[in-house]
Amino acid sequence: MSEALRHYLVVDLEATCDDRGAVPREEMEIIEIGAVMVDVEGLDAVDEFQAFVRPSRHPTLTDFCRELTTIQQAEVDAADPFPEVLACFAAWAETYAPYRLASWGDYDRKQFHQDCAHHRLPYPLGKEHMNIKAEFSRALGTKKRFGMAAALRRAGLPLRGTHHRGIDDARNIARLLPLALGRGPATGS
Ligand code: AMP
Ligand code: MG
Repeated sequence: MSEALRHYLVVDLEATCDDRGAVPREEMEIIEIGAVMVDVEGLDAVDEFQAFVRPSRHPTLTDFCRELTTIQQAEVDAADPFPEVLACFAAWAETYAPYRLASWGDYDRKQFHQDCAHHRLPYPLGKEHMNIKAEFSRALGTKKRFGMAAALRRAGLPLRGTHHRGIDDARNIARLLPLALGRGPATGS
């Protein structure tokens, strides 16, 4: 029998990218892991994880990527490569097990799998994933899909921090969890 779920691991990843095709989708690599550990009972944030990651395929960030994410070249240059950061992240997450990975849409889960495959690493973050974007629409009784910023507006919550920074996006997504799980309206917290 599996142990009762204790936490949602809300993650938001930033990755190498370009608006002119210099970084094809299948060559994108994680450059920031932002995560908030949320307890399933009260949906309170109990801990956070943030780390930059040094990409290997396209080590120089494009102007587009730097402008979108505000992540600087020096920040990824000084960071550890994916295998080290993933090991550290997975070890941190394990202290809150059993947890379920959760993110806005399916992008982050797929990007984790892509980076694990590239580095020939087993995927360490569990079999389950909650698509908070889909849950949010379901809770609202609509087929319409919302971007994170639109969902915050819809929930009457201000967007805090810098959009497209992993840790700030993860914090904002965690604030949408009560509404997405039908336990809203979201509080102002
Ligand atoms: P987000 O969580 O919305 O900040 O997006 C995660 C990652 O998706 C970003 O770090 C980019 O790699 C990619 N991305 C987001 N928006 C765009 C966009 N408009 N064009 C290209 N890539 C994007
Ligand atoms: Mg983001």
